[in-house]
Amino acid sequence: MAYPLSSSTLEWQRKARQYAEEELIPHEEQAELNEGVLPAEIVARQKAGGLALGLSRIDAPLLHGGLQLPMLDQVVIWEQLGRVTNALCWSVPEAHSWMFDACSPDQLERYIKPMMAGKRRECYAITEEEAGSDNDAITTTARLEGDHYVIDGEKWFVTSANKADFFFLQAITGTQDGQKQHALFFVDLDAPGIEMIDNPLFGHTYSSHHPTYRFNRVRVPAANRIGPIGGGMNYTRSWFRRERLMIAARCCGAAARLIEMGAEFAKARVVSGQPISEYQLIQAMLADSLTELWGSRLMTYEAAAMQDRGDDLAVVHTHCSMAKLTGSEMANRVADRVVQIFGGRGYLRSNAAQRFYRELRVDRIWEGTSEIQRLIIARSLLKRGVDNLIG
Ligand SMILES: Cc1cc2nc3c(=O)[nH]c(=O)nc-3n(C[C@H](O)[C@H](O)[C@H](O)COP(=O)(O)OP(=O)(O)OC[C@H]3O[C@@H](n4cnc5c(N)ncnc54)[C@H](O)[C@@H]3O)c2cc1C
Repeated sequence: MAYPLSSSTLEWQRKARQYAEEELIPHEEQAELNEGVLPAEIVARQKAGGLALGLSRIDAPLLHGGLQLPMLDQVVIWEQLGRVTNALCWSVPEAHSWMFDACSPDQLERYIKPMMAGKRRECYAITEEEAGSDNDAITTTARLEGDHYVIDGEKWFVTSANKADFFFLQAITGTQDGQKQHALFFVDLDAPGIEMIDNPLFGHTYSSHHPTYRFNRVRVPAANRIGPIGGGMNYTRSWFRRERLMIAARCCGAAARLIEMGAEFAKARVVSGQPISEYQLIQAMLADSLTELWGSRLMTYEAAAMQDRGDDLAVVHTHCSMAKLTGSEMANRVADRVVQIFGGRGYLRSNAAQRFYRELRVDRIWEGTSEIQRLIIARSLLKRGVDNLIG
C-alpha cells in the first residue's frame, strides 16, 4: 500500500518524474565526463522546461504569481528530482515562501520575482572557514555608514556562486547585551570590493561550484538588509528548514532509483550459474535498502504534511532535522550497498550508482551535519518531551 497522495499530488509526481527522465537523466553521463558542464543549448532547454513546469515558483505565494503548492506536493516533486545525478536538477532558481515574508516590496521586485522568472540567480553565503556548524561564530561584519552598510569578511563553500548574480549574505551588524546581532543582506556579485579568492574541487562533478569570496569594504545600500536588524538568523533558519526537508526528499528519490537499478542488475547478472538476486546476501542488501527508504519517505512526507497542517514551527523544525538525518544517512547506506551489488561495474563513473555514492556524501554535511541535526533533535526532545514531538 503506497502512502496516500491526492490526485493533484500524484500529477505533480508524474510531471516531475517525466521532466527528470526526459530532460535531465539522459545528460548525466555527458556532464560527468565534462566537469559537470553541458552544452549551452541543453542547459537552456533544461531551464526552459523547469520554468514551464513552474519549478521556480512552487513555494511562492499565489498573490505574487507563485503556485503556493502544499509542502507535501513540493516534497514529492523534489523526491523525483533527487533521482538525477550531477545536480542537473538545479536547473532553475527557486523563490521560497519565507522570502515573501522577509523582503520589502522593493526587494521582491529587484531580487525575488526575477528569480521566479529565471532572470536572476541566488547563492547563499553563511559559512566561513572558522564558522560552519556554529553559525554564530561568523566574523563577517556589516557596519552602517550613512545609508549604506560596509561589508568586510570572507565566505567559503558558496554553492552555485559561479552561476549566481547575488548573494544572500549573513553578517554581524553589531552587539547588543553582549550578543552578536546578525542580519541577512542582498549583495550583488559584481559590487566593487568582492573578490573570488579560491574555487576548490570537491568530490562530485557539478557545474555549480562552491567558491570562496573575500569582501573588502563592499558598500551595500541599507535597503538591501533583509528584515529588521537581528532578524537574520530567523530567515536563515527558515532556509535551513526548507533545505533540510528537500534534502531528505532528494535522498529518498536517489535511494529509490538506486534500489531499482540494483534489483534490475541483480536479476540479470549471473555468477556461478545463478542470477546474483538469488543469493541471500544480495537479497539482504536490497531488503534493508527498501525498508530504510520506506521509513525515510514516511518521515519526510509526514514532516511536510505537518507544515501543511500548520503544526507548531519548533516541532516542524525538529521533524525536518529528523527527516534530513534519517534520509541522508539512509541514502548513503543504500548507495554503498548498490555499488557493492554492481561489483566492479559499480566503480565506473558511467554508473549512476558510483555518482550517487560520491554525491550523496555531502548530504550528511551541508545544511547542518548529521551531528548538528542530532543536537537539534536532542535539544528539542529535552525541552518538549516525546509526546509533544511525536505524539
Ligand atoms: C560542497 C559543499 C557546499 C556547501 N555549500 C554551502 C553554501 O552554499 N552556503 C553556505 O553557507 N555553506 C555551504 N556549505 C558549508 C556547510 O554547510 C558546512 O560545511 C557544514 O555546515 C559543516 O561546517 P564545517 O565544514 O565548518 O564543519 P565543522 O563545523 O568544522 O565540523 C567538523 C566536524 O565536527 C562536528 N561538530 C561540530 N560541532 C559539533 C558539536 N557541537 N557536537 C558534535 N560534533 C560537532 C561536525 O559535525 C563535523 O563532523 C557547503 C559545504 C560543502 C561541503
